[in-house]
Amino acid sequence: MVDFLESFFSFKKIYRPGYFNTPESFLKYIDKQKPQAIIAEDSFLPSISDRTTRFPVVTIITGKIERGLETAIKHHSDRYLYAPYHVKDLEYKLEKVILARNELSSMKREIRELSIVADLSQLISSTLDPKEVLYRIVKKIADEIPVSRCSIIRVDWRHKSAFVVASYEDPNMCSIRLDLKKYPEILAAFKTKKPVVIRDISSDPLMKKVRQLIMPLGIKSILVIPIKVHEKVIGTLFLRTARAERTFNEAEVRLLNIIANTSANALYNAILFEQVEDEKTRLEKLAITDYLTGVYNVRYFYHHIIEEFNRAERYVFPVSCVMLDIDFFKKVNDEYGHRTGDEVLKEFAKLLKRNTRKSDVLARYGGEEFIILMPQTPADGAMAEAERIRLSIKRHKFRSIKDKRIITVSIGISSFPHPEVKTHDDLITFADNALFEAKNSGRDKVIIFQ
Ligand code: GH3
Ligand code: MG
Ligand code: MG
Repeated sequence: MVDFLESFFSFKKIYRPGYFNTPESFLKYIDKQKPQAIIAEDSFLPSISDRTTRFPVVTIITGKIERGLETAIKHHSDRYLYAPYHVKDLEYKLEKVILARNELSSMKREIRELSIVADLSQLISSTLDPKEVLYRIVKKIADEIPVSRCSIIRVDWRHKSAFVVASYEDPNMCSIRLDLKKYPEILAAFKTKKPVVIRDISSDPLMKKVRQLIMPLGIKSILVIPIKVHEKVIGTLFLRTARAERTFNEAEVRLLNIIANTSANALYNAILFEQVEDEKTRLEKLAITDYLTGVYNVRYFYHHIIEEFNRAERYVFPVSCVMLDIDFFKKVNDEYGHRTGDEVLKEFAKLLKRNTRKSDVLARYGGEEFIILMPQTPADGAMAEAERIRLSIKRHKFRSIKDKRIITVSIGISSFPHPEVKTHDDLITFADNALFEAKNSGRDKVIIFQ
């Protein structure tokens, strides 16, 4: 029988046979190796069959045919031969069992891939926040494929920038900017629109320039899969394995390509979501800002003073309101023109901002009038602050008006608690009254409403 096999394999060069004459030596071998098929004598089957279920087995019946058949069937042999042996017979049966096993394993792989993609599609169409979806995708990948790191990177080609938008290692991570110069593999995936596999960073020519930089990180392989929307690369999957581990195989690259395609919409949504959020923040800011001076507008001021006044009433905190009006501003306009007047107003607002505390709310009340709300500040504190402001305006040399003209400001203050201040409106009205008094008594001064 051995003679038959030896002569068979001496002609069939596509196979590399190994011969074992005891069950022990054979079992030791399959602990480490994965043969495409096993050819075994029927008398061997009882001692090896519970360890060979993963492999196709062709049994060669050497003794009595009937007993041999019984053994072969009992031990789930895939095919069998009995004497007289024919080369064609073995050739055919060997081919068949190997083909069947390959088909089975590729079917199993496809089923696994399909179920992963089905899970992902469901996850992506869920109502989760777009950032969360991206995290779930990288988590799914890391659960299915052994990697040491796995992230999704958003690439903004127009601004030549890239951001890690989801990372398996850190669920709470927000966009982290990457310096693309240090990632030639991402650039390559971006340019070619195809997966880039770096099997070994220590030898791959693409990594030449950055090798010194990344060698200490203990990485063995890198896999970058482009994520495309309408043939435009909007990001990549980015996977790495540790040095002690393995590299990526063909099947994994294929699966990750499918995952990248499935994830494209999720990434696109996250990008849109972020843009809308940015725009929303910009509009919100715009809605409460005075267009000329950049300080708060009166709308925001009212909103704030109502809240602050309620708080002051409830907890008996002091609060002060300071109203400021530039003296003889009409003359500035008349002498230098409206344009220059605007510049003076901007500079004036800047000075005010520099001279107020973080907790103060400074707003343009209208024209050349400004108003400051000072929470937790009694009248004397507001007085000191207002006086400081008055002096710093008086001493300031306004860049927009070149001669020595001095700008001064009149200031009125009202404070709570005060027997006559019962609402936030009273606070404003009485500050205005005090300001009127400051104007009437010669300007360039601070008056507190009594
Ligand atoms: P005083 O307050 O000391 O009584 O004198 P004043 O000249 O400042 O008086 P008034 O409040 O009557 O005039 C304010 C002027 O401020 C009128 C207006 O031309 C000017 N003004 C208001 N808003 C703007 C602005 O946005 N830009 C410019 N350039 N001027 C403005
Ligand atoms: Mg005025
Ligand atoms: Mg004025």
